[in-house]
Amino acid sequence: MIEKEPVIAIKNLNHYYGKGALRKQILFDINLEIYPGEIVIMTGPSGSGKTTLLSLIGGLRSVQEGSLKFLGEELVGVSQNKLVQMRRNIGYIFQAHNLLGFLTAKQNVQMAVELNDNISQTEAMAKSKAMLGSVGLEERVDYYPDNLSGGQKQRIAIARALVNRPPLVLADEPTAALDKQSGRDVVEIMQSLAKNQGTTILLVTHDNRILDIADRIVEMEDGLLTRNSSNAPI
Ligand code: ADP
Ligand code: MG
Repeated sequence: MIEKEPVIAIKNLNHYYGKGALRKQILFDINLEIYPGEIVIMTGPSGSGKTTLLSLIGGLRSVQEGSLKFLGEELVGVSQNKLVQMRRNIGYIFQAHNLLGFLTAKQNVQMAVELNDNISQTEAMAKSKAMLGSVGLEERVDYYPDNLSGGQKQRIAIARALVNRPPLVLADEPTAALDKQSGRDVVEIMQSLAKNQGTTILLVTHDNRILDIADRIVEMEDGLLTRNSSNAPI
């Protein structure tokens, strides 16, 4: 088998919040590699450092100590400009969907296309509609977020995150605000889109009911990665 280059390669990563006497270490010697097309679920108690790690991987926060490579490029010490560029290769899905309330479903997704690509508005609109179709919202493209259910809003957020076919999608507790069935639907849509597009997914969740969609499960505890194993049944 040919060894593929990891999408994410983290070595001896430490992270601290605060300054001086208040400086507190939050992440301890994290080592983690994630490969193209993998779906990795990260679990762990509240406060264990999951969001912090995700924000470092996503280039939303500067790496302080250790090594973090995204698509082979070292992120330690890079400029803010470079981080902004790198973020274009990542789709983000948060617990709160973060949609713009004054834009329709179609416009929310379209905006992500236009921010990224030098393509015509007509083309961006077509892409947006097609993507909303693939998350089952073809009938709702002209709705405003306020008139849609939690699950539907989260599906728009998925469409927005995936419409540019990024190599990596980061999702921080995307099902936390959803009922059981909507949560399940949302992750299954993510899973099938990712498998079709070859996208890598790193998904943080407390939700034990969705662990089966993962190829691998990693667990954080008190800032340490305590489990890193394939998701084969025991
Ligand atoms: P999780 O996502 O697993 O709940 P977080 O990464 O959000 O964990 O938080 C890990 C620890 O870091 C917690 O103790 C939290 O209080 C602390 N923390 C998170 N963000 C900040 C911040 N911006 N400044 C200071 N401490 C923070
Ligand atoms: Mg968190």
